[in-house]
Amino acid sequence: MRQILWFRRDLRVKDNAILAHAQGEVLPIFIFDTNILNKLPSNDKRVTFIYQSVLKLKKELQNLGLDLAIFYDEPQTVFKNLKTAGFTSALCSVDYDHYAKERDKKIEKILPLQRFTDSFLIHPKEVLNKSHLPYKVFTPFYNALHYLWEAHNIKAFECSKNLSLTHFDYPNIPTLQEMGFTKQLLPDFLMQNPHELLKNFTQSLNDYSQKRDFIALNGTSQMSVFLRFGLISPKEVFNTMRSYPQSQAYIRQLFFREFYNYLLYHFPKTQFENQKPIEVEWNNNKEHFKKWCKGETGVPIVDAAMQHLNTTGLMHNRLRMIVASYLTKNLLINWQWGEAYFAEKLLDYEASSNIASWQWAASTGSDAVPYFRIFNPYLQSAKFDKEGVFITLVLPWLKEVDAKRLHKENATQSDLFLNYPQQIVSIAQSRSRAIETFKKAHYENA
Ligand SMILES: Cc1cc2nc3c(=O)[nH]c(=O)nc-3n(C[C@H](O)[C@H](O)[C@H](O)COP(=O)(O)OP(=O)(O)OC[C@H]3O[C@@H](n4cnc5c(N)ncnc54)[C@H](O)[C@@H]3O)c2cc1C
Repeated sequence: MRQILWFRRDLRVKDNAILAHAQGEVLPIFIFDTNILNKLPSNDKRVTFIYQSVLKLKKELQNLGLDLAIFYDEPQTVFKNLKTAGFTSALCSVDYDHYAKERDKKIEKILPLQRFTDSFLIHPKEVLNKSHLPYKVFTPFYNALHYLWEAHNIKAFECSKNLSLTHFDYPNIPTLQEMGFTKQLLPDFLMQNPHELLKNFTQSLNDYSQKRDFIALNGTSQMSVFLRFGLISPKEVFNTMRSYPQSQAYIRQLFFREFYNYLLYHFPKTQFENQKPIEVEWNNNKEHFKKWCKGETGVPIVDAAMQHLNTTGLMHNRLRMIVASYLTKNLLINWQWGEAYFAEKLLDYEASSNIASWQWAASTGSDAVPYFRIFNPYLQSAKFDKEGVFITLVLPWLKEVDAKRLHKENATQSDLFLNYPQQIVSIAQSRSRAIETFKKAHYENA
C-alpha cells in the first residue's frame, strides 16, 4: 500500500493528523492549484507566504527522512496521474468551503480520501444542542465546548514511526515566476516561528482583554495567518493558552473561529446568502464601493484601515468591525461585496470566519449585531485610536491635524490645505437610512 499525504491547510510536521495516521510507504504532496491561482493577481501576498511555507515544510519533512513533491496543476490531473502510478489512497485534513468540498468530491471519484479534523479543534458534528440540532448562537456553543478543557480530550498527534518515503521526482519545484507570481514583501512577524511568537505572547496574555481592541497597541497574538495555513495547530494554541489562569478571553476568540467553521459546515448556504431569511434593500452604489475599497470615504479611520489592508494584507479586528459596519450600514452595500473584497486582500482570509463576521456586522447572521446598533466610526476611532497613532501612521499627511479633529465629522476636511476627500455620506443621515431600510427587512419572520 502506498499512501499519498496531501498537505493543504496543515503546513507543519508538529501535531499533524495525516503524519500520525499514515502507515508504510508514503508520498507527501502539495499542489499549487491552478484553479485557484489562475484567478489571483500576480502580486497576491498569500501566494508568497504559502510558497515560503511549503519550502519550509519540505525541509521539515526531509529532517524526518521524508520529502515533499510539489505540483503546479489541477488536483484532478495530479490524482489521475498518481492513481496510474499505483497509489491507492490519500490522507488529508478537512476543508469545508464550497470550492474545497466540490474539489474533494471530484478527487474521491479517483481515489479514496481519508479526512481528519486537524485545522479546527472539533468536528462540527461533535457538538449539538439537546434537540440534536446545531447551535446557531455563540454562547451556548461556547459553553458546550467545556469538555475540551479536560486534558485527555485534546492530545497532540505524534508522527507515525514506521513511515518510508516512496521514490519520486522530489527536486522538481515550480518557481513563483513559473506560476505567474512575483515575490511580495510580507509583514515582519510572518517571518517568525509561530511557536515562539505564541510563547512570547503568553507574557502579555494578562492584558489581552484590556488591550485587544486598541488598534495601535499590538495587544493580540497575530496567530490568524499561521492558523489559516496550519503552520501551527489550533490544538497547540489552545493547549498552550489554557494552562494560564487569564486565558478565558483569548480562548473565547479561538472558539469563535471554531463556531464560524461550525456554522459554515452546518449552514453551507451562508456562503452565498443571508443566514436569516430577510431581504435587505441594499443601495449597492458602485462608486461608493470603489471609494470604500480604496480608502477614500472621507472618514479617517475607515480610510486608514482600508489603505492599510491594501498595502499590507492585514487589518486589526476592531477595524474590520468598523469598516464592515460602515459598508453595510452607512453605505448600505451588500455584505457579500465586502466579504469578497476581504477575500481578495486578507492574508488570513478564512472563508468561515470572514463570511460569518460579515453576516454579524450586516445583521443578517443568526447571532449578529442588532440592526439598530450601528457603529459611529468617529466614536470608535476616538475610543480605540484616541491619539490618532494608527490613522497618522497610515495617512502621515494628517499628522499636523489635532487628534480630536480626526474623530469629528468633517473636521479634517475643513483644513483646505490637506485636500482630504469629502465624506461620501453623512453619518447621521446614513444611519437613519440604514435603520429604516433594515426595519423593512422582515426580521419578525427570521
Ligand atoms: C468583517 C470581519 C472579517 C473577518 N475575517 C476574518 C478572516 O477572513 N480570517 C480570520 O482568521 N479572521 C477573520 N476575522 C476575525 C478577526 O478579525 C481575526 O481573526 C483577528 O483580527 C486575527 O488577529 P489575531 O490573530 O491577532 O487575533 P487574536 O485576538 O490574538 O485571537 C486569537 C485567534 O482567535 C481567532 N479569532 C480572534 N477573533 C476572532 C473573530 N472575531 N472571529 C473568528 N476568529 C477569531 C483567530 O484565529 C485568532 O488568530 C474577521 C473579523 C471581521 C469583523
